[in-house]
Amino acid sequence: MQSDSYKTTEANAAKTMALLKDQNIRQLPKNYTIWYEYLTESNPDLVRRVNELMESDGKFTDKIASEIYSDFFTFEKESKAIQETNRIVQKSMDTVMVNLNATTGDFAKYGEQLSDFATKADGLSVTELQDVIGEIVSQTTTMSDNAKNLNNSLDSASQEISDLRKLLDEVQKEALTDGLTGIANRKSFDAALVKATAMSMETNTPTCLVLSDIDHFKIFNDTHGHPFGDLVLKLVAKTLTGGVGRTATAARYGGEEFGIILPNTELDEAVDIANDLRTAVSSKKLIKRSTGENVGKITMSFGVALYTPREDAMTYINRADEALYAAKNAGRNQVKHLQGTLARAS
Ligand code: GH3
Ligand code: MG
Ligand code: MG
Repeated sequence: MQSDSYKTTEANAAKTMALLKDQNIRQLPKNYTIWYEYLTESNPDLVRRVNELMESDGKFTDKIASEIYSDFFTFEKESKAIQETNRIVQKSMDTVMVNLNATTGDFAKYGEQLSDFATKADGLSVTELQDVIGEIVSQTTTMSDNAKNLNNSLDSASQEISDLRKLLDEVQKEALTDGLTGIANRKSFDAALVKATAMSMETNTPTCLVLSDIDHFKIFNDTHGHPFGDLVLKLVAKTLTGGVGRTATAARYGGEEFGIILPNTELDEAVDIANDLRTAVSSKKLIKRSTGENVGKITMSFGVALYTPREDAMTYINRADEALYAAKNAGRNQVKHLQGTLARAS
């Protein structure tokens, strides 16, 4: 008998396929994965991101698919890479072990033969002794070849393992980096936030979170084109990462939103940092390289929140978002902050 959960899965799978067909979305595994998650609403962040991107871009493009997939499903990519690595490492270790076993077995036999020869050598005639020595020489050559083979297989196994380690490092780095701007991505941000809040509680030190969003970026894109918008996102990312210390994490949180985690930072310091970043971004002169046209500047709004011990990440992010929303409402290009769970934006 099929279980309820199996039936639900099957029904969801059918719904997902129907949706892809209905919306004219290519039936690729990546798209299927995203929309399955979307329909089952198991990840509210994913639903929110899909809605946001669909709203801003009008339709579900390959670019959206790649962005969402890399932000929400790279763990699968990583675990596949890890599985593959394990498989290959296991295979090369098996080869080494086979060679090692064969060689150690041969060595033991060789040792026995040598001591055998030694006991027999007494009282042998010169011709017999020559035969025995000939035998020893041939055995020794075989053993030396075996040792060489073992050495070679150990060398190639260790080369293979170090190549795989490099590959894994790259996969991991890629999974934590935003494709467009090259700074930390949402996944990296989430991990850094968990780490910073845990450390804040452990060491009883303040931690602040800054959420920032480019002002009127839709109009900017519409006026100057999406590709130029992309360049601006890169510039903003560089300005934000360059404007914070090494212990801070500046990440691309979403489309034109950036999150900055400031461990060991008091609220007033964080507000100052956010204001410095705001000024740094708005003082960049934007010039289109292709035409030399000066397109003015962009501004950003910032929301800052001090971490309240034991608060979960989602509540904390929502508070910073509330402050950001207050900054937008107050006219944009400004910094607003929230102190504790009950504080108002000011
Ligand atoms: P607000 O001041 O309220 O934030 O206005 P806004 O126009 O910035 O906000 P809205 O959410 O309406 O639009 C966000 C825009 O950001 C629309 C979308 O095209 C743009 N955007 C998101 N991701 C990217 C990207 O990767 N590249 C480019 N060029 N634009 C992006
Ligand atoms: Mg936004
Ligand atoms: Mg915006």
